[in-house]
Amino acid sequence: MAAIRYRQVHLDFHTSEFIDRIGADFDPAEFAQTLAASDVDSITCFARCHHGWLYYPSKTHPELIHPQLSNRDLLPQQIAACHARGIRVPIYTTVQWDGRIMREHPEWLAIDGNGNYVDTQHVPAPHFYHTICLNSPYREFFKTHLQDIIDVIGKDQIDGFFMDILFQVECNCPHCRQKMTGLGMDPDQKNQRYRYAALMLDEFKTEITAFIHNQLPDAGIFYNSSHVGPKSKASFKDYSHLELESLPSGGWGYDHFPVTSRYARTLGKEMIGMTGKFHTYWGDFHSLKNQAALEFECFQMLAVGAGCSIGDQLHPNGRLSPGAYDLIGKVYASVKAKEAYCRDAVPVSPIAILTPEEFYPDEPHNLGLPPSLVGAARMLQELSWPFDIIDSQMDFSAYSLLVLPDQIPFSPELSGKIQAYLDQGGSLLGSYDACLDKGPASELYGVRFLAESPYYREFVLPNAVIGKSLHREEYVMYDRAFDVEQVPGARSSVLMDKVKPYFDRSGDRFCSHQHAPSSGQTGHPAVIRNGNAIYFAHPVFRLYRKNAPRWCKLMVRDALELLLGQSPVSHNGPSTLITALNEQPRESRLVLHLLHYITEKRSEEIYTIEDVIPLHNLELRIEVGPRQVRRVQAVPAATGISFRQEAGAVYFAIDQVLGHGMVALDYERS
Ligand SMILES: [Zn+2]
Repeated sequence: MAAIRYRQVHLDFHTSEFIDRIGADFDPAEFAQTLAASDVDSITCFARCHHGWLYYPSKTHPELIHPQLSNRDLLPQQIAACHARGIRVPIYTTVQWDGRIMREHPEWLAIDGNGNYVDTQHVPAPHFYHTICLNSPYREFFKTHLQDIIDVIGKDQIDGFFMDILFQVECNCPHCRQKMTGLGMDPDQKNQRYRYAALMLDEFKTEITAFIHNQLPDAGIFYNSSHVGPKSKASFKDYSHLELESLPSGGWGYDHFPVTSRYARTLGKEMIGMTGKFHTYWGDFHSLKNQAALEFECFQMLAVGAGCSIGDQLHPNGRLSPGAYDLIGKVYASVKAKEAYCRDAVPVSPIAILTPEEFYPDEPHNLGLPPSLVGAARMLQELSWPFDIIDSQMDFSAYSLLVLPDQIPFSPELSGKIQAYLDQGGSLLGSYDACLDKGPASELYGVRFLAESPYYREFVLPNAVIGKSLHREEYVMYDRAFDVEQVPGARSSVLMDKVKPYFDRSGDRFCSHQHAPSSGQTGHPAVIRNGNAIYFAHPVFRLYRKNAPRWCKLMVRDALELLLGQSPVSHNGPSTLITALNEQPRESRLVLHLLHYITEKRSEEIYTIEDVIPLHNLELRIEVGPRQVRRVQAVPAATGISFRQEAGAVYFAIDQVLGHGMVALDYERS
């Protein structure tokens, strides 16, 4: 397959049958010209929408062609016009949402344990959100539909398929119950139905990928579930690449993409991020995102090693919005200039966070991002420590340090794998209940678990080792800790103590509005070091996600520096500066990304970015190891930057970062 395109548009076209003249103003040449002028190099266009209508001259289902479609060749003409300009056109079709099937084939819909249709969206009617069951006769309909697209559009015109909406929903329909019984699963148990749904989705994807690849071996294939995480890992073999749908002003927020992408990039697939040009979310007609927000979202994709995709929706009349493509063009002109510094780049990541998402119970949850994972990712990002996110099956040896955030179930296998990693010189920072053996002793951390703390909030006392830049007085910790003690005779050492409050706020005792203050009495250890491992008794990452106490972040920073020394990317800038360091081995260069955009919650419903606030006089230290750096340049402008190299690090200053800056460090080929 050709390298993934970096400047994509995902052109929604869910179009009601109550609107007439669909596609009437579509002009293929104008359509492709608008895209080309905006530097778009791939656009996903619609064969079939969530309303259930087709936008091409179907042979097998002519009755499903949109009844108001003026131009029955809409999709073929979109493809031909774009191909003439070298723009790829993956084909969109819907899988589990279809308004027409909802009305005409209710027997194909998934039903829950109470016999109700499954609706994951909770949008008041009218809508098209009742999930279709893929074990129903719909599966044959879907394959006939795919074959119809292939036959009508023509194999030589098909770049790939984007198949939307593959959701793990517990279906209690007769087809699913029968299949579950055949597998020895109990269809009366909700969690078993949910687990079976994952197996069924994997099996469906394998079947559909084989069906497509049989005829189109080079077609791109992606199945969209609105989240890419460890729970879907088994089926990524059936995807040609990954698309990370994450609209920050939709339900995903600004924390979803940085976390998801740092896991997805370890899976060995090319990937794109997907945001939207909408001010809020899909279907937000006649709205434009602030340019600064769109810049940040796309440039962050480049920084984590992804290409870009911007969601749009075509007006029913078939004409692209000039405003939207002016906006997209401004951002994509910049992406085009930067692309060469981003392709095939390998992230420099000394740290891996082990994701707790892998261990989530088999039940529905919102996008699968545990607060402790988001808290850990935020801390590292704000501290300018580059990191990946991995699962327990992956190789740990590529990393200098593993972070186990708060809640990783203990197992002898995982603990043994981590111990072997430590024995090979790896380091570990774990907290609270992260692979903590609650038996006689935790070998990893050199502590013995005693109990949950009797206090819902305690304090910690900073010292010259942990919390060294803080005042030498108590700081509150906003969540209940574990009480642990050193294993007698172990080589572990206490780095920080907890301090007890006068009493817990419970029973008939309380003081003031919140927790009782410090009694001054030393409690159990708060932070313990055991060789290359440091353990925090508090859930510091969840706690940071909840309240963002800066003192927790600084305590973690001190622990990281004890284990690893300085970050490979250090600077004198603010915590709002996001950094990423990537290497392009073939080009013999390191590429540093500097992102400075500040997200704000200006409204009740969404976060956004309106302005670019420049940063001035930034001083940087970049670890380059044995590489001999010969040139440092701001790119893509190729403006030289004076630098000095000393003891494995390069030092330089940048006058101004305006939103997104990139610096290439070219080194001698060895
Ligand atoms: Zn079913």
